[in-house]
Amino acid sequence: MALALEQAHLAAAAGEVPVGAVVVKNGQVIATGRNAPIASHDPTAHAEVVALREAARVLGNYRLEGCTLYVTLEPCAMCSGAMLHARVDRVVFGANDSRTGVAGSVLNLFDHTQLNHQTQVAGGKVEAGTTREFGYAEVRAHGHTELLKGIEDFATAEGQGMLKVWIRYGDKVTAMPAGFKVMAFTPACPIAGMADDARRFYAVQFHPEVTHTVQGQALLNRFVLDICQARPDWIMGDYIVEAVAKIRE
Ligand SMILES: [Zn+2]
Repeated sequence: MALALEQAHLAAAAGEVPVGAVVVKNGQVIATGRNAPIASHDPTAHAEVVALREAARVLGNYRLEGCTLYVTLEPCAMCSGAMLHARVDRVVFGANDSRTGVAGSVLNLFDHTQLNHQTQVAGGKVEAGTTREFGYAEVRAHGHTELLKGIEDFATAEGQGMLKVWIRYGDKVTAMPAGFKVMAFTPACPIAGMADDARRFYAVQFHPEVTHTVQGQALLNRFVLDICQARPDWIMGDYIVEAVAKIRE
């Protein structure tokens, strides 16, 4: 999203409506786009369409399966249509657009099961924070989520579950996407974790993967084994066989 914001700034500098987008596949940015209808005399040159065209060119395929599109503003009907045609897996947008946004504001094109492809959509808002936290923190669990159920390091005198975690953030979430509720907070960070139990989506501002987060392993086990229902059937021997086979190819 930071890269998409960079594109939005470039669009603004060029005298366009400031919207930026990036397309990511397998954790790699494969295309960027910024609004350019004025300069290009092209009413379809929205940031998302520009980024989709570039991504399709890079992949050599108009289907963008496995891709996530990040855009700074809620997409319009044209861009949402293009994303559905491209079969983008997921769209993440920054600010809501009450005038032309069709990912929930004016209407929601993404929740029509009659359409042949479903793209997941996530909104919400992140702002530059004045407070930064880095290091040890005590996070309070909130809202009885599936992820944190029964997992705590200690309880407050009032019986609230607390987690000892390693936290790191500069920016802060100020609005959650539709369907999410607060899962954890600190005095300085009102949304340190959020959850959508129905869709089984969880997000945390702290690091569950480091040993400083005492219950980190328990949280990852809960997510991978219980919530995602993955089975722990992978062994190191498989890796050796796969790696040798790959080298021989
Ligand atoms: Zn658009």
